[in-house]
Amino acid sequence: ASVAAAGQVSAERRRTAERAPSGRSFVNSVDSDPSLPEVRQAAREWVTAPPRELTSPMLGSTEAVDDVVARARVARASWVARPAAARAAVLRTVADELEARRGALVTVAAHEGGKTVAESDPEVSEAIDFARYYADRAEEIEQISEAEGLSFTPDSVVLVTPPWNFPIAIPTGGMLAPLAAGAAVIAKPAPPVPGCSEVVAEAIYAAFATHDVPAELMQIVRTDEGDVGRHLVSHPDVDRVILTGAYETAQLFTSWRADRLTGPGVLAETSGKNALVVTPSADYDLAVADVLRSAFGHAGQKCSAASLLILVGSVATSERFRRQLVDAVSSLRVGWPQDLGTTMGPVIEPPQGKLQRALTTLEPGETWLVEPRQLDGEGRLWSPGVKEGVWPGSAFHLTEYFGPVLGIMTADTLEEAVEWQNATAYGLTGGLHSLDEAEIRHWLTHVEVGNAYVNRHTTGAIVQRQSFGGWKRSSVGPGAKAGGPNYVAQLGTWATERRPH
Ligand code: GLU
Repeated sequence: ASVAAAGQVSAERRRTAERAPSGRSFVNSVDSDPSLPEVRQAAREWVTAPPRELTSPMLGSTEAVDDVVARARVARASWVARPAAARAAVLRTVADELEARRGALVTVAAHEGGKTVAESDPEVSEAIDFARYYADRAEEIEQISEAEGLSFTPDSVVLVTPPWNFPIAIPTGGMLAPLAAGAAVIAKPAPPVPGCSEVVAEAIYAAFATHDVPAELMQIVRTDEGDVGRHLVSHPDVDRVILTGAYETAQLFTSWRADRLTGPGVLAETSGKNALVVTPSADYDLAVADVLRSAFGHAGQKCSAASLLILVGSVATSERFRRQLVDAVSSLRVGWPQDLGTTMGPVIEPPQGKLQRALTTLEPGETWLVEPRQLDGEGRLWSPGVKEGVWPGSAFHLTEYFGPVLGIMTADTLEEAVEWQNATAYGLTGGLHSLDEAEIRHWLTHVEVGNAYVNRHTTGAIVQRQSFGGWKRSSVGPGAKAGGPNYVAQLGTWATERRPH
C-alpha cells in the first residue's frame, strides 16, 4: 500500500504547480508545452524569424582587453555605492526586459545552438528566475551584514565565460550574480552562441538605461582562444572568473591565475558523468519517461544529462521495461528546431574524438539496444543510441561524452549500483527511480553528487528550489550552487570590519 501511495505522491508532485520567482509555476519553468495553441503560434513565429547580426566587439589585442577592464573598474565604483535595493531594482527590471525578449532569445538559440523551442523557452524562464532570485539575494546580503555587524566587499571585476549548451540561462545567471553582489562584469560568450548573450545583454542595457546605470558596468566581448583570451582570463584586475565548461578548462584557467596572492579566483561548474538508477520497485512508466528526458534532452548535451542507466536486479531482465525503453527512444523525432515537430535537435558540431567513437563503436561486451545513425550529410543530426553491457571500469562507464548516447549497466543490488555511480571522477547529478523508502534512504545517504534526484529526470535544475552544482571534478572553487542561497554571497569578501571599497 505504501508503495502505491508513494507512486501517487510522485505523480501528484509533477502536477503541483509551485510559484517560481518568474511568476510562472516551477513546473512550467522547466517544461514548455509546444502542443498548447498559444505556445505553438508564438513558436512558429520565433523559429521562422531570420538570424540577427552580431554586435559585440572582437578584441584583437591585449591593449583592447586592458581598456575594457579599466572601463569596467570605473563603472563599478558608482555601482557598488548604490544601496542593495537599488541594485535589486535593476535586476528586477532585467527580468521584465528578458520576458519582453522571449521570442528573440528562442530564435537566436535555435539559429546558433540548434535548441528546440521546448528546450529554449524554459531556459528563458530560468534566466528570469535568476534575475528575480539574485535581486532578492542582493538585499539579503545587506540585511545580514547590518544584522550581524559584518561587511561584504564584492569582487571588483568578474569575467564570465558561459558554455554553448545553455546559451540563455547560464550567461544570464553568470552576469547577474556579480551585478547583484556589486561587481562589474565582462562576459565572453562561447564562440558558437555569442548572439544569445548579446540578446541577454540588450535586456540588461535596457534596464541600465531605465535606472541610469553606465553601460560599461557589463560588457560583452569576443576574443580568440590564444594570447588575447589568456590575457583577459589572467588579467590582474579581474578578481574572479566564473566558468561553466570542461574540468580541463577550469584547470587551465586556474593555472593561468595561479600566482595570485588571494587565490586564483576561479569559480567553475564543470563536467559530469551522470547515472540514473532504476530498481524493481520503480514505476516503469515514470522511469522510462525520465530516462528519455535525462539522456536525450538537447541531444544529451547537458552537464546534467544521464549518460548511464543502471538497472538493478529484475529490471535488467524485464521485457516490459526493455520494450518501453526501446519504443520511447525510437519515438524521438530528430531534426532542426525550425521544424516544430522536432523532439531532439542537432549536436553542436559533427562529432569528433571520444563522442564519435561512442556513437560508432562498441567496447568488448557491449551491444546496441538502439543503434544510433547519422541522418544528415553534415553529421549534426544523429538518432539516439543506447548500448547495453557497459562494463564497470570501462571507458563508457567513466567518460563524459556530451551527446545522444546512453549506456546501460546491470547491477545485482542497489549497493552495487551506487558504487558504480560513485566510481566516476565527477559528481554532478544522479537519479534514482524507486518507490521503496529504504532504498531511497540508502541511495540518498551514499550517492556522491551535487544534485540527487529521486523519481525525477536528472536535468532541469530549478532556481531557488533545486540549486545546481556538483562535487568532485564537477566543481572548482568555493562551490555554492547556482540558483541557490549562497551563490551571490560567495562573490566577495566577508569581514567583521568595514573595508573601503
Ligand atoms: N542547469 C542545467 C540542468 O540542470 C545544466 C547545466 C549544464 O549543462 O551546464 O540541467
